[in-house]
Amino acid sequence: MSEKKSLDTVCVQSGWQPKSGDPRVLPIFQSTTFKYENTAAMADLFDLKAEGYFYTRLQNPTNDAVAAKIADLEGGVAAMLTSSGQAASFYSIFNICEAGDHFVSSKNIYGGTYNLFLVTMKKLGIECTMVDSDASEEEISKAFRPNTKCLFAETISNPTCHVLDFEKFSRIAHKHGVPLIVDNTFATPINCRPFEWGADIVIHSTTKYMDGHALAVGGCIVDSGNFDWDKYPEKFAGLTQPDESYHGLAYTKAFGKKAFITKATAQLMRDLGSIQSPMNAFLLNIGLETLHLRIPRHCENAQKVAEFLEKHPKIAWITYSGLKSSPYYQLAQKQFDGGRSCGVMCFGIKGGREESIKFMDSLKFIAIVTHVADARSCVLHPASHTHRQLTDEQLIAAGVQPDLIRLSIGIENCDDIINDISQALDKI
Ligand SMILES: *Cc1c(COP(=O)(O)O)cnc(C)c1O
Repeated sequence: MSEKKSLDTVCVQSGWQPKSGDPRVLPIFQSTTFKYENTAAMADLFDLKAEGYFYTRLQNPTNDAVAAKIADLEGGVAAMLTSSGQAASFYSIFNICEAGDHFVSSKNIYGGTYNLFLVTMKKLGIECTMVDSDASEEEISKAFRPNTKCLFAETISNPTCHVLDFEKFSRIAHKHGVPLIVDNTFATPINCRPFEWGADIVIHSTTKYMDGHALAVGGCIVDSGNFDWDKYPEKFAGLTQPDESYHGLAYTKAFGKKAFITKATAQLMRDLGSIQSPMNAFLLNIGLETLHLRIPRHCENAQKVAEFLEKHPKIAWITYSGLKSSPYYQLAQKQFDGGRSCGVMCFGIKGGREESIKFMDSLKFIAIVTHVADARSCVLHPASHTHRQLTDEQLIAAGVQPDLIRLSIGIENCDDIINDISQALDKI
């Protein structure tokens, strides 16, 4: 949208802009292809000389409308949807790294991303060094090498709920001449907009709060347009030098601030094809229309639950940045709107692993699911679920205690949520 609007209005109104006589609601363009009158019109699209649709693996109007809304929410210049959050993480790195390159990531990240970075990326010849996001600037800087291409971190880490110090991370990235890529899934742009704190690229698993109803797996990449790739033409040759697969076109010269997203679409989506289906993009858009209403409620409920758990005699520890006792409280107050972080917290129960499992099995409507951050409250034990592939040693290295329970607070009535937790704690 052209003029500046509040995020509430962006959630509802941005993206699809119907012209006179068009459908009021974003249509699902459920079509693989788009028709043109003559050969030349289509040839210009293939050469990236004209903008338009020809094949849904590259672009689709439903997807583009939803991507544009997310770009507006984050304050970015361009965005693309992907089939999943995993695809978004992968593309964000692979768009600037190739075999022989290296990048640095916070180790306090989602288990799937951890595997992607350390195992699968390694098979592609791309090396990742993990750092503790709480370490000092000097310590983190030691991980950088001449072939380092980016720094990656999560705003609020899943599942450990660490809060990223944006100013520290963007300073480190920019001092080393690389972009800061941030996974903003848990905070959402309603609570935090990483571009305002120096991040260059934001990714999302839209599967979580953005969808909000646990309907569709999806992802998104947003570019701030702020990183100056041309300042390091050798390091970011893929963006600044001619692309042989597009008749020698150079992305930064041809597309300016939209170079990163255009390359990711024209090259990675063309060749790897992790597109979001238009039907899923439509569902995601419905979720986005109420994001500004749901997020404050998630956070309000989570705050009350965290305060309840902190005082409970059977709880060994709890991490939630809304608690004054949290080491991340000040950072959350500074970086997040109204100090709100998200609806997710993690904690351990006295007695460890076995008591934790007994607690989870005693819950009534708070369900055990491999999901997080949707309207329904749910719970997960990472050591036996999402992080199952990791050894105990890797678990600890990733900052995940074997007794850690991840609790995702929904938008139900808060007294009912606390009653369910309370009765389950009584059973142990
Ligand atoms: C779930 C999640 C992912 C992966 O997203 P999918 O949509 O499941 O592929 C990445 N990052 C974070 C923080 C997540 O919570």
